[in-house]
Amino acid sequence: MIVENSIDELKKRESAYKIIKDIIESDENIPLYDLTGLSGGFLASEDELSLLQTYIGPAIFEDKIQEVGKEHMGGEKIVPLNRTSSGILATILALVKKGDNVVHFLKAHPAHPSITRACDLVGANYEEFIDIDKFHIPENTSLVIITGSTMDHQVLDEETFKKVIEMAHEKDIPVFVDDASGARLRTAIFNQKPACELGADLAITSTDKLMKGPRGGLLAGREDLANLVKTKSNEFGLEAQAPIILAMINALKDYNPDNLRAAISKKDELFDLLNDSFDIFETTPTGVKVSKESLYNGVKSKVDTELSGTDLCFLWSMILLRDEKIITIPAVSMSGASTTIRFDLSANDANNLEIKEIFNKISDSFDLLIKVCVDTDKSRKIIYNE
Ligand SMILES: *Cc1c(COP(=O)(O)O)cnc(C)c1O
Repeated sequence: MIVENSIDELKKRESAYKIIKDIIESDENIPLYDLTGLSGGFLASEDELSLLQTYIGPAIFEDKIQEVGKEHMGGEKIVPLNRTSSGILATILALVKKGDNVVHFLKAHPAHPSITRACDLVGANYEEFIDIDKFHIPENTSLVIITGSTMDHQVLDEETFKKVIEMAHEKDIPVFVDDASGARLRTAIFNQKPACELGADLAITSTDKLMKGPRGGLLAGREDLANLVKTKSNEFGLEAQAPIILAMINALKDYNPDNLRAAISKKDELFDLLNDSFDIFETTPTGVKVSKESLYNGVKSKVDTELSGTDLCFLWSMILLRDEKIITIPAVSMSGASTTIRFDLSANDANNLEIKEIFNKISDSFDLLIKVCVDTDKSRKIIYNE
């Protein structure tokens, strides 16, 4: 194993940032393509930026975020948070006590690590389900969580979604939806309703996922519960600050689901090309991906390597960044995030590349991965940019 723990993941991430900085600051005008689908952004006018310096700005932004946030998410009240992870933590701190049970339903593992970590922190018992026939809610459960779309963009169908909510509500247990990417993927691509309209008591989305917002968490739902979460977020400094709220508002106003829908035909074209040469790719709603298991098996069928599936994902992601100037999540992710290599064709930068070019970059970087991964030392040097 090359990347063994959270500190290693931090080191990997910092070396990726160094490569990105070198590319951006290079005199040679090297293009950089962010295909993570999390490219974020900070839409704001000069006038709005000047408001940030007064006491008036936050007051105005507070009103506006309620309006545009509810339009996007539904619900009675909006709470903007520093990140989705912060909102998940604040919600679990607010609604779950030591010894309580928390059950989580999602389409496929893995769940976002902030959920398990927050449950650990409060001392709750946590259980995860992916099969509705096995799903059950034990006594003394204080929160039922649903993930609308996982980190790997595995989307839960609306019928199961509603069934889980119904089962929770039969026992008067609130339902919290982790809809980080789901608030847009489920609605724009799968024609599902916003989580609050499906009966969720609280739902949160990431404002940098599949929209042009800053990294931040936008929570919506029942006013009484939202107030508990908001209070907790203030106690621990988890709330979004005014600049983030401003950028969230503008990104929500700018959001257009048609941009996501336009990625569907592009991803089919790329997948068909890839599928002629590889058997490791799967489609996502707006792109293609390779799981660490598929990558491991695909590599092992060609060469002998001592690297784990996780290492192979990090290595490939770093090669993609260094040589092909493509950002994918494993290079820049934080500890515990999914290591799936995903190419999101709804990303802005996907418009700057022909599908054939993306294919060539994927193919060339994979060839190098195969060459390098037999040499653990060399692989380590690439991962840590040494
Ligand atoms: C991205 C994501 C999160 C966390 O978002 P952060 O911005 O990293 O805090 C939580 N859950 C899911 C399903 C995600 O995809």
